[in-house]
Amino acid sequence: MSSVADAGTAPLSTGIMRIFKDGLPRTRADVIAESGHARSTIGPQLDALTAHGLLIESGVTKSTGGRRPTAFMLNPDSYLILAIDLGPNHLRLALSNLRFKILGERTEVSEMAGDPEIVFDRIEAIARELLREHNPEKIPLAGIGVGLPTPVNYPSGRPMLPPLMPGWHDYDVEGRLQRLASVPVIVDRDNNLRAVGEFIGRSPNESVLYVHVSTYIGSGLIVNGRLARGAGGSAGYFGHLSGDWSQDQLCMCGKYGCLEAVASSHAILRDVGPELGVSTAAELTRLAAAGNPTASRAIRTAGRNIGTAIANFVSVLNPSHVVIGGSLMRGNLELLSGVRETVFSKAFPLPAQLLQVDASIHGYHSAVLGANVLVKEAFFERDLSAAPDGRWKESSSAEDHPR
Ligand SMILES: [Zn+2]
Repeated sequence: MSSVADAGTAPLSTGIMRIFKDGLPRTRADVIAESGHARSTIGPQLDALTAHGLLIESGVTKSTGGRRPTAFMLNPDSYLILAIDLGPNHLRLALSNLRFKILGERTEVSEMAGDPEIVFDRIEAIARELLREHNPEKIPLAGIGVGLPTPVNYPSGRPMLPPLMPGWHDYDVEGRLQRLASVPVIVDRDNNLRAVGEFIGRSPNESVLYVHVSTYIGSGLIVNGRLARGAGGSAGYFGHLSGDWSQDQLCMCGKYGCLEAVASSHAILRDVGPELGVSTAAELTRLAAAGNPTASRAIRTAGRNIGTAIANFVSVLNPSHVVIGGSLMRGNLELLSGVRETVFSKAFPLPAQLLQVDASIHGYHSAVLGANVLVKEAFFERDLSAAPDGRWKESSSAEDHPR
């Protein structure tokens, strides 16, 4: 495929390309109507975008008699997206096309608390493996999306005073990943990406609260279709809300009475793990799914406490959906049942009237999908004629990039 950078014909219109972002086919007449431009402008643009491989001709339009009109649609394989989901104990990389079809992915258990250079050396090695194995045609990258388990300064994309990963403060994630490819790098908090991933397919003006329940409890909030990052980029500390649960447990933030200190998998395992002989969330949820009363009761109680905190949000923000994800949700219904019990009994009735509370649709992949969405959005906002070619570099030498 020829790259955008070496194009020599008409300059590429970002505005016209944006019309095709949804992946649906359109005829010339559709594009003229949607863009408001004249036929004489649209024709050369469609030709140029097709010549560059960004659009392909599609034969699925309805004919009104006579010759069937040519339709154009986004070529989902014209660019790829690299998504990186980093958790406190895992890293996950996925290579996808512009339709978010995952072409290849890798997940590893990994400790993030140490030196970020070591973590990113590993990420770079995995990324090169993925690109070699799943992109033999060397399709260029539209961008790289990264989710971090830390507050992220917006728009710099640098981690900001991470409580459990002090060495990561102000680390240049974008600069580090651009050793791999000179493409835009979008960095956001992991639960913001999960909220965006779970928003796929919803109406553009909906409001959705995503709550992630695992070793920690965090959230991502979309209000009327827009991600709410907060004034300093540190919105989403859902686990540190206070409520009418036990105030006796010390939270990792240094305070007593936080939700996370009673309702995270860490808290439940602290309380019932020794009695049940389990030490991981997966073992605990398996026991609950098998009907063990102690495990079921502990998870359901955590759900009730989380639901109490969510009820306050529902009364204030009137979201259409609350989505619950994370390791304590997988394979059992106890957490969701507990959440529903208290959300609907404690929230103010009017905002709760149309509310739906559901389990995460995309599970482990929600952060990867959210990263794909944000990279694709940014890609279609760029001036495509001036964009870098998106090819990744074959090697990253330490001499070129002194630490
Ligand atoms: Zn706390």
